Formats: sequence, structure tokens, C-alpha cells
Amino acid sequence: MSLGEFDVISRFFTRPPSFQHSAVHVGVGDDCALLSVSPGHVLTTSMDLLVAGRHFFPDVNPKHLGHKALAVNLSDLAACGAKPLAFLLGISLPRVDQTWLSEFSAGLFALADQHGCVLMGGDTTACDGPVTISITVFGEVPVNRALLRSGARVGDGIYVSGQLGDARLALEHRLGKLTLPPTALQAALPSLELPIPRISLGIALRGIASACIDLSDGLYGDLQHVLAASRCGADLFQTSVLSCSGVQSLLPADFSSSYLLQTVSSGGDDYELLFTAPDVHSHAIQAIAARLDTDLHRIGRITESPGIRMLDEQGVPLQVLCASFDHFSASS
Ligand code: ADP
Ligand code: MG
Repeated sequence: MSLGEFDVISRFFTRPPSFQHSAVHVGVGDDCALLSVSPGHVLTTSMDLLVAGRHFFPDVNPKHLGHKALAVNLSDLAACGAKPLAFLLGISLPRVDQTWLSEFSAGLFALADQHGCVLMGGDTTACDGPVTISITVFGEVPVNRALLRSGARVGDGIYVSGQLGDARLALEHRLGKLTLPPTALQAALPSLELPIPRISLGIALRGIASACIDLSDGLYGDLQHVLAASRCGADLFQTSVLSCSGVQSLLPADFSSSYLLQTVSSGGDDYELLFTAPDVHSHAIQAIAARLDTDLHRIGRITESPGIRMLDEQGVPLQVLCASFDHFSASS
């Protein structure tokens, strides 16, 4: 590294004192950071690791990468209904590229500031391998109010926020596996590169959602985690699932609808929330959608019989489509 480790830390990852947060008593610069949570709250923490070439294109816009590295962690806090406090950043770099680092930190801090989430420490090393970024995020949630995967009950509605499948379509385009029309690509790319962590939604769902998870590996797979933890099954409504595609109306008329359904249900990288809630809360959920100006789609219901069934408009299960979900697990 031409700039030393400590130069990198002080130049790109240390902020003026005005960016401090009352919960962080000691931040970057000492052996440990000191963090407190509000009375009556528990600490909520999560970590994600991103490796160049595996989780992001090495030539991705570094500002977008800074955003996404933090966004995927904040998304985990959102899924628990937690409020962000602070994060740690581990970064391993084959060389010090100052332009890249200043763009990366600009994207990182822009999102951190939006959520009042302070960088309180980390580790910085040189390496011979690809750029590797590890963020550990810390948040707080009132005692016994965290949203967990295990609370879904038979009869609950299944909801998802925002748009699904767009990130996958943008990825497939970037991999050269399909060609999206320019308007569709433009609409889908932010889902891949600049996901929005649903922090306000997670907080609003405390006491309303019976279970919650963020969608990182695809609707179908992540719903299975909720079902396993809650010991139940799910019926999904094909038409409602398809309506979660943000770019559907921008695709060519001959775009395969079964391919679109697979992308929406198994695409991954959506970073939207999937939650379940009893019908008694359906008005409250509509009110939250309006207040946060966020689409909340009711896509199915929790059942006693295990497994996931995709139902057509007549309520008939679509066996073939469920089998073809393997398409993505083989290629991803
Ligand atoms: P130690 O040797 O005690 O692990 P370091 O010398 O690695 O500490 O780091 C010095 C200080 O800089 C510590 O407070 C550490 O948390 C912080 N730091 C190191 N890397 C980063 C980074 N990428 N982002 C934020 N803070 C960092
Ligand atoms: Mg160290």
C-alpha cells in the first residue's frame, strides 16, 4: 500500500466529531469502540461479507458498492424491526486506489448518515486476493419487540415490500444472459446496485408482523426459512407474486411469463422485507404502506400443510413452476 494502513483509516474512514452519535462513546481510534443501547432495549447485530467477483462486479461503481455494502446489513436490522446505531467495517485491499476509496466511502457514509448509523471502528489490511468487505452492524430494539422468523401462524397473510425480481433481471443483463430494453434496464439497475434498506418499515411492523425476514436469497428460499422456523406452510397467489415485478410493464410483449415468475420468486438480491401478519392488521398495514409510500403486496397465506404451493387464479397449485425454481439454484 502506498498510503499506509493508518493513512487509509484516517483519510477515508474517520469523520469529524460532528458525525458522532450519543450511543457511541468511543469510536474509531481506540482498541475497542464503546456503544450503549437505550434503557429497555436489546442490542441487535448482524454481519455480511462481500467478495469482489463473487458478490459484486470488480468494476462496479465504488459509490454504489459503498452504499450496497452497508445496505445489505441495514436490511438485516430492518428485518428484525431494529433501529440502526453503528457499524464496524473490515476491508481488505490488494492496493490503495485513492479515487476508488473516496468514492466507496462517499457512498457508504451517504447511506450511514441517512440512518444515523455511525462507523465506530473496523480493520484494514492489504491482501493478494480480491477486494473483500465485511460490515457488522449494530442496532437496538425494545425488549421482546424484535421481529423474528418463528412467529408465523396459520391463516396469517404473507406480504412483501417493494419490487421483486428486478435486481435479478439487471444481473442477468450484466452477465449477458438476456438483453433488457434500455428503459427496463434503467428501472431495474437501482434494485441491484442501490437497494433501499426498509428500516422505517421494520420499525412500523413491530407489534403487527408475526414473522419477518429480508429477501436476500429469493422469495421462495427465504420464505422457506420462515416456514421452517414457524413450522407451517404457505399458499402463494401467482397473480399477486407476478405483480411484485417492478419492470414487468417495460418488458417486451414476448418476454416469457414463466421466466418472469421465476425471477420474481427466486431471483435474490431484492433486500425487501417479507412478513406475515394476521388479517386483523390488514388496515394498519395499508396505512403503513401509505405513510411510508412503499408498496406492500399481499402475496399469499400461511397454511398448516408444509411446503409452498403456487396457486393460479382458480386456486389450483402449479406443480411445474415450483419444480422449475431449481433453474436458479443451479446457476447462482
Ligand atoms: P488494533 O490493532 O487495535 O486492532 P487497528 O490498528 O487495526 O487497531 O485500528 C486502529 C483504529 O482504527 C481502531 O479504532 C479501529 O477500529 C479503526 N479502524 C481500522 N480500520 C478501520 C476501518 N476500515 N473503518 C473504520 N475504522 C477502522
Ligand atoms: Mg488491526
